[in-house]
Amino acid sequence: MTARTPASSTRTALVIGGGIAGMVVAMALHKAGIEARVYEAYDSRPSDRGGSRLGGGMTIAPNGQQALEAIDAAETVSAIGTPVTALGLRSWTGRHLAQLAPPADLPTTRFVWRTELHEAITAEAERREIPIHRGKRLLDATDTGAGVTARFSDGSLAKADILIGADGLRSTVRSLIDPSAPKPHYAGMLTFTARVQKTELPSTEGVLYMCYGKRAYFGYQIFDDGSAAWFANLPHREPMTQAEVQAVGAGEWLKRLGEAFTDDRTPAPDLLADTAPEDLVTTGPTETMPPVHTWSRGRMILIGDAAHAMSPTSGQGVSLASEGAVELARCLRDLPHGKAFKAYESLRRPRVDRILKHTTATPTATSAAARTAAPKPAGPFSRALRDALLPVATKVGGGGGAVWGAWQFEHRIDWDERVE
Ligand SMILES: Cc1cc2nc3c(=O)[nH]c(=O)nc-3n(C[C@H](O)[C@H](O)[C@H](O)COP(=O)(O)OP(=O)(O)OC[C@H]3O[C@@H](n4cnc5c(N)ncnc54)[C@H](O)[C@@H]3O)c2cc1C
Repeated sequence: MTARTPASSTRTALVIGGGIAGMVVAMALHKAGIEARVYEAYDSRPSDRGGSRLGGGMTIAPNGQQALEAIDAAETVSAIGTPVTALGLRSWTGRHLAQLAPPADLPTTRFVWRTELHEAITAEAERREIPIHRGKRLLDATDTGAGVTARFSDGSLAKADILIGADGLRSTVRSLIDPSAPKPHYAGMLTFTARVQKTELPSTEGVLYMCYGKRAYFGYQIFDDGSAAWFANLPHREPMTQAEVQAVGAGEWLKRLGEAFTDDRTPAPDLLADTAPEDLVTTGPTETMPPVHTWSRGRMILIGDAAHAMSPTSGQGVSLASEGAVELARCLRDLPHGKAFKAYESLRRPRVDRILKHTTATPTATSAAARTAAPKPAGPFSRALRDALLPVATKVGGGGGAVWGAWQFEHRIDWDERVE
């Protein structure tokens, strides 16, 4: 891959945060001919931070894979994880409500462990010789008009033409851009995921199931080798910190989850019983992010979760972060930074807002992602109505053949198209 000289005046960028958004934007900028350096608060690489137990399982959607393809990095994902060929919806009674297949001719959604994905993308950035500085927590940044100077907690400074905040849900750059920017808030649920080493339950043959449990939501996939993965959103009125969740202990959480799913006639009780406490990932409190109205100021801009964190059940966090990272690099390749930031926002905001609307829990939400993001499961009446209508609605909505993801998944970026 050869980097090409950008038409714009931006030559250098500081990327704050070495998560997936940070690594992807650094690689995309490199492809656009802009020198990017990544500054990450952790002093260790993803695989040295506790393996998959830190991240839990997640899916990377076709649109995310297509964004990586635009920067010649699609193989980082296709080489890991397991294909998810359809989304199945079940009620607590075990009844199959619907099965939704993705649109044809797209890369297959893949189930990956978050840390493995992060590690694979980091390794690819290193292979492309992107400088990654670890143990660098950004404290503040000064826009001098001619450039940006960042200051880190170890007292060091770094300078570049622009600064990109890819520093996640609790972004420091977000408050530097707008001190009144909103902060994430507790969504009334605790999220748990686990890798089940061995279960006697049959393979779901590529289908990822979402179950509308009586008291909580449960998602699972059983792989052909007899292993499985599941996630559960457990309603919990009081917010708990990650440390408080962990202090309760995995054995106790598995017991409480077992109680929450005891009435469900889905694989949830068996999969919970098959889970070893050391394989439970206590992801902690589920948080949602109100819309962030200001994405950029001067020479600083936000991408990924710092700008638009999705609910974990949207299945779009990584994919939207990757799309945004690639689009920002394309804009900076073709335009001076002020115009590039505006072009980026007009390309990205309508899409991000539409997906947010589609996947955020509201009383009238219809999508599976939005329903599973709601802290309170439906009551008996709504449950009966949903279970009666959903099989019909998904067939009608898909034009006779129920479709999963459709407009969300089909998004493709043309790297060679000029941004005007
Ligand atoms: C439980 C859970 C389940 C999820 N499931 C899915 C799913 O199924 N599909 C999906 O697509 N997405 C999912 N997501 C979301 C997804 O993980 C993120 O959207 C995606 O990883 C993009 O993140 P990011 O790079 O913007 O931020 P992050 O991954 O949070 O990375 C930010 C980085 O910035 C660093 N940092 C923070 N502050 C500073 C600072 N001041 N200075 C320097 N560095 C700093 C952090 O250490 C971190 O490495 C899930 C998230 C959670 C929590």
